[in-house]
Amino acid sequence: MKYISTRGKAPALSFGDVLLAGLANDGGLYVPETLPSYSKEEIASWASLSYQELAFKVMWPFVEGEIPADAFKTMIDEAYAGFTHTSIAPMVEVGKNEWVLELFRGPTLAFKDFALQLLGRLMDYVLSERKEKLVILGATSGDTGSAAIEGCRHSEHLDIFILHPFERVSEVQRRQMTTVIDNNVFNIAVKGNFDDCQGMVKSSFADQSFLKGAKLGAVNSINWARIMAQIVYYFSSALAVGAPHRKVSFSVPTGNFGDIFAGYLAKKMGLPIDQLVVATNQNDILHRVIAENDMSRQALNKTLSPSMDIMVSSNFERLLFDAHERNGAELDELMARFNQGDINLKDSAWSFVKSHFDSYKVDDERTCAVISEVFAGTQYLLDPHTAIGLEAARQCWKDKSVPMITLATAHPVKFPEAVEKAGCESPSLPAHMADLFEREESYSVIENDLAAVQSFVAENI
Ligand SMILES: *Cc1c(COP(=O)(O)O)cnc(C)c1O
Repeated sequence: MKYISTRGKAPALSFGDVLLAGLANDGGLYVPETLPSYSKEEIASWASLSYQELAFKVMWPFVEGEIPADAFKTMIDEAYAGFTHTSIAPMVEVGKNEWVLELFRGPTLAFKDFALQLLGRLMDYVLSERKEKLVILGATSGDTGSAAIEGCRHSEHLDIFILHPFERVSEVQRRQMTTVIDNNVFNIAVKGNFDDCQGMVKSSFADQSFLKGAKLGAVNSINWARIMAQIVYYFSSALAVGAPHRKVSFSVPTGNFGDIFAGYLAKKMGLPIDQLVVATNQNDILHRVIAENDMSRQALNKTLSPSMDIMVSSNFERLLFDAHERNGAELDELMARFNQGDINLKDSAWSFVKSHFDSYKVDDERTCAVISEVFAGTQYLLDPHTAIGLEAARQCWKDKSVPMITLATAHPVKFPEAVEKAGCESPSLPAHMADLFEREESYSVIENDLAAVQSFVAENI
């Protein structure tokens, strides 16, 4: 399988190259040149497979030619071995035909483990084949950092450096990163804010001379392999409620548009999806584009669902590519205009977007109300991101005979502030993390200074 850039100017690459490159060199994102597509009969025949077997079926066409089947199977088994539920992605029925897909049974209790557990192993394999090493550099405001560290800690060909803003992440989030004591893992607390950290990462990618020949890699959500791994649970959950013999709908708490884009791909691959609901918090650019064709930036709001506090959703470009008939030159021009200011989509592109997605926006007050209503009714505790997904599902659901599956993107223990504001008690840490507050921590505190951070990285690789 070949991958092409959404902006049409970068060369088409193989899976391995796309995996290591992250962003295309024309500024675009890589997408598969063609998608595999499956008949109803074939999808139906997957109903009795384990999650791992299904993952192999769904992802194999994307990696074929780059990784041998046996090696890929082993990677999948290892990636999901650390999940604490035997079905990996269990489902809970919270109302009639209304399901929650629990994607938080991985090591860091958020859905990002699904992709990052596999990504670290894929990178390690490809690097070892090529006899190369890679330096992973990322910034985090909380969730992504710990999932990336857990995914990369066992990789012999990767060093990982994660910047977080000093004293500005929660203690659980910090400890999930800093208690990983492996000699290829480096946590850096920068005496600045998240934007300062992200700025340092961007500058470092733009000029890598400080690395003296080593290469940087990215594990952020623009990496194609992350999207690929997320397609699997759309199939597993849909099969669990009777697809492909009936339709299913999904509601997805959305930030960078990576997770829901995987759902759109599942639909294109043959899964009979009725509705895909984009659920946003107050940072609602996606809701405004879908509902009103208004693609304008607004000031970033800090909300109770911080993993969705995003001003511009980077993966939306992948959908816009399809919405413009995969015309890279046109998309290049559109994204250049968007970098200058606000845009509207042309009519055919907006119609395309609306034909595939519904959307709904939920504020903090409503988020807490949903957490407390659902808990009162069913004793089921939602995290704030999932609460937004469930509320959007209820508001947008057109045909109640079609099962509606809301993706539960995080465990509520990670977001005690929202849970307590909703009048519920924050749950205790799951067994594998129960001693988190007693574990040894290791991190370096560095001034808010690019040169200081870069020399720390260069000295430690
Ligand atoms: C990352 C994240 C999201 C947003 O996912 P995208 O793929 O960026 O849209 C939602 N909820 C939680 C808990 C997350 O960590």
